[in-house]
Amino acid sequence: MEDTLRQLPQKAKDTHNDNKKFFSKLKKKPPKHLDSLMQELHEAEFERTDCLTCANCCKTTGPLFTNKDIERIAKHFRMKPQQFIETYLRVDEDNDYVLQEVPCTFLGADNYCSIYDVRPKACSEFPHTDRRKFQQISNLTLKNIAICPAAFNILEAMKSRLKL
Ligand code: SF4
Ligand code: SF4
Repeated sequence: MEDTLRQLPQKAKDTHNDNKKFFSKLKKKPPKHLDSLMQELHEAEFERTDCLTCANCCKTTGPLFTNKDIERIAKHFRMKPQQFIETYLRVDEDNDYVLQEVPCTFLGADNYCSIYDVRPKACSEFPHTDRRKFQQISNLTLKNIAICPAAFNILEAMKSRLKL
């Protein structure tokens, strides 16, 4: 996995132009079965990929914390939401609550998430490859494939399944 993660940013760069073209064609005419195809490709990839050997998303980018996330996680720690914010979060340039530091404070040395059951929604949905209307998150996906080997593989599989 270490080699894969080291090579991933370059592989994302090398495929960037092709991927942009692919998404622009996809947006013009998304196939009817796109949602079910994404579900299938996502499930197949995550049968092969063990996130516990990776955790690159938790190590290199942090999630956004919604107000609901903050309330739920603060309650888990028996803290007031404001106290949780002051201890762990900061406001970023888009005015969103994000972690004060990465790797994520809640990531263990064994790559387990110590707040897994109450983790932010953005964490549970990452890398969003089973999302409906997948063509709408092309910019996010182009970024995510440089971080997430599973997302990279899913996009490659998608390109070979959909000859656009
Ligand atoms: S979601 Fe992607 S980046 Fe995160 S741990 Fe799993 S494979 Fe790695
Ligand atoms: S909260 Fe958990 S899943 Fe989310 S980034 Fe931190 S360690 Fe990873």
